[in-house]
Amino acid sequence: MRWREFQVVPSRESAIECLRVYFTLGETVIQLAAYIRSLGYPCTVEHPIGDSDLLHVPIGLKAGFGELGRHGSIIHPTLGPLFRMGSVALTLDLAIDHPIDAGIAKFCDTCRACRKYCPAHAIPDQRTPSAGKDHLGNDRYVVDTGRCFPYFAKHYYCSICLPVCVYNHKEWARDFEGFTTKLFPQVVMEEPPAPVDPDPARRHQYLKLNRL
Ligand code: SF4
Ligand code: SF4
Repeated sequence: MRWREFQVVPSRESAIECLRVYFTLGETVIQLAAYIRSLGYPCTVEHPIGDSDLLHVPIGLKAGFGELGRHGSIIHPTLGPLFRMGSVALTLDLAIDHPIDAGIAKFCDTCRACRKYCPAHAIPDQRTPSAGKDHLGNDRYVVDTGRCFPYFAKHYYCSICLPVCVYNHKEWARDFEGFTTKLFPQVVMEEPPAPVDPDPARRHQYLKLNRL
């Protein structure tokens, strides 16, 4: 996604940018699947905006696309976290990529920028041992979706945690097309709605899954 559209977040511009990328990325995976089928291989489109049978983030981590950040999104070492993911699933012998350790998950243990700016208080202070491991074997940070989603739904898909993340290309103060930007976004924080599932007993139960 273009960093310039996240200079004020959440905003109408940032919401439109989310949907623009969901749409164009969806078109891309559909075209990729059509090309693969034209070569004679059946495959399935796993669209980025939800009509999907798989979770893109664990696959992206296994493919070495980045590391899992405290905010629950993948952080690419140079692109940062401002992107969306779509997939095409098929059975075919391919060269295999591997998870990477670029020191990002370790950095998250001391940086708390996303947690500080999350208006819904959904980003945790500590890793949760009962929530399974990330691709490097670290205990995962568990974002409280019962707090995040009500805010996300009311405020332009929120996304504050992405542009405030220090892993962005903003140190150059311009985006990939040369557009000059601010170093840090203007963050608009409103009072959060009530959490969806405040009763801890009713929250998702995270099994001790090992996804290595
Ligand atoms: S999208 Fe907004 S509410 Fe959800 S975790 Fe990120 S900053 Fe918090
Ligand atoms: S803002 Fe800091 S703690 Fe949050 S995901 Fe980015 S690097 Fe990690």
